[in-house]
Amino acid sequence: MGSVAEDTDLIAALQAAVGADQVLHGERLAERPAGFWSRHALQARALVRPATTEEVSAILKVCHQRRQPVITHGGLTGLVGGAICSADDVVLSLERMNQIEELDPVDRLARVQAGVILQQLQEAADAQDLLFPLDLGGRGSATIGGNISTNAGGNRVIRYGMTRDLVLGLEAVLADGTVVSSMNQMIKNNTGYDLKQLFIGAEGTLGVVTRAVVKLSEKPRSQQTLFVALNSFAEVKQFLKLMDARLGGALSAFEVMWQNFYRLVTTEPATNQAPLSQNYPFYALVESMGGDPEADQARLEAALADAYEAGLIQDAVVAQSEAQRSALWAMRDDVRQMGRVGPGSSFDVSVRLSRMEDYVNAVNARLAARFPDFTNIIFGHLGDGNLHFYVAPGQTGDGIKEAVERAVYEPLADYDGSISAEHGIGLSKKAYLSLSRSADEIRLMQTLKQALDPHNLLNPGRIIDPA
Ligand SMILES: Cc1cc2nc3c(=O)[nH]c(=O)nc-3n(C[C@H](O)[C@H](O)[C@H](O)COP(=O)(O)OP(=O)(O)OC[C@H]3O[C@@H](n4cnc5c(N)ncnc54)[C@H](O)[C@@H]3O)c2cc1C
Repeated sequence: MGSVAEDTDLIAALQAAVGADQVLHGERLAERPAGFWSRHALQARALVRPATTEEVSAILKVCHQRRQPVITHGGLTGLVGGAICSADDVVLSLERMNQIEELDPVDRLARVQAGVILQQLQEAADAQDLLFPLDLGGRGSATIGGNISTNAGGNRVIRYGMTRDLVLGLEAVLADGTVVSSMNQMIKNNTGYDLKQLFIGAEGTLGVVTRAVVKLSEKPRSQQTLFVALNSFAEVKQFLKLMDARLGGALSAFEVMWQNFYRLVTTEPATNQAPLSQNYPFYALVESMGGDPEADQARLEAALADAYEAGLIQDAVVAQSEAQRSALWAMRDDVRQMGRVGPGSSFDVSVRLSRMEDYVNAVNARLAARFPDFTNIIFGHLGDGNLHFYVAPGQTGDGIKEAVERAVYEPLADYDGSISAEHGIGLSKKAYLSLSRSADEIRLMQTLKQALDPHNLLNPGRIIDPA
């Protein structure tokens, strides 16, 4: 905590950088929640709301001069505590940098400020018969800057890749206020180091992302959504291969729910109705996107018929309207229901599909040995090898959370998996980073951090600590 004189000096310098109205402190901060699901008020020395890259640069210069740590805020939907701040931090919120500067149907790209909400960009693209394919449950609040900084994944990675694959160029401001404009607009540009990659997935530790150029795709003319029940994990894997092969590149989502997830999201007080019996061990939500509604529908039905004939699926529904399609996705997105099984921890891990079942069995065996009453709710972006767990150990007390984390993370070493598939490391997973990254890799990350932010001011303590 700074002295009163230091606080007054800092606030005056920030006000000079962005205008008095855009520096919130004291009582004005108490109105703002600390996070997407948080009821606590935000704690910080001040929250600043720049409207331009120049203002971001001016703010960072003020903070750099005073060695003042800065935490960057997008939509606060991040799931690894990356945006958590304390009363000693300055918060830099991108909420006013919310302009779509250009959306070009010929070049199929958008130039946006970092505070643009994901759904806002999706809708703007749609209005021009284009698609911004990144899609995730937090779409109504998450920002493009946050998506880039976390390298967000979501529901369509199987077809369009992670956020990294959608970024052509970006602009970032370094800790000392230097603006690095790397707003490339071309698909091909091999002119030395690809600097944008430094900031994608860096969780705000190397610079503040202020603007970006992102790739758009042609809007699909048809979209088919189906939901199937399956008897075994072996059949889930075969069904994925069959659909991918038969849909000729149109497969755009392959989400899987274990029975316990499906039952939770289709049993009251959850509001979703069960479209299929709740008695199968696995369910898959599958989507394809194509350019010819009739041919696409026929191809999907033929693929489904093949899957039945091969005995891979037990039952299926195909959405016949937008309302039915939304209802199927609403089940998948209703992750809040998991809290009903008791207090617990959420996980986002990656493992090769061929080893996934063994890994899940290893985790459950470790949980069972330590927590006889545990529940592990399982679902995920299975087509990407990405599993989500919600583990309620059935016990509370000292050391319980850590024991659950170790039960989930430690077996990953045997299966060459990753402790974070898409949510990042932030503060929550930092202690386990060495399970997924070698000592040399972590040292190189520290070298990069030291080079770009030598005073450790930008999102300090996230991902790694200084060497
Ligand atoms: C219901 C729900 C579903 C979700 N589903 C998915 C999913 O399927 N896949 C997935 O990957 N994630 C998912 N998430 C997580 C979250 O939406 C993503 O991590 C998202 O990319 C975060 O964006 P944000 O703007 O909310 O960032 P914030 O939460 O504000 O910030 C996240 C991190 O990025 C940093 N940051 C934010 N903006 C910038 C910037 N402009 N420059 C530098 N650093 C910045 C922050 O300091 C923090 O470290 C989900 C979240 C919710 C609530």
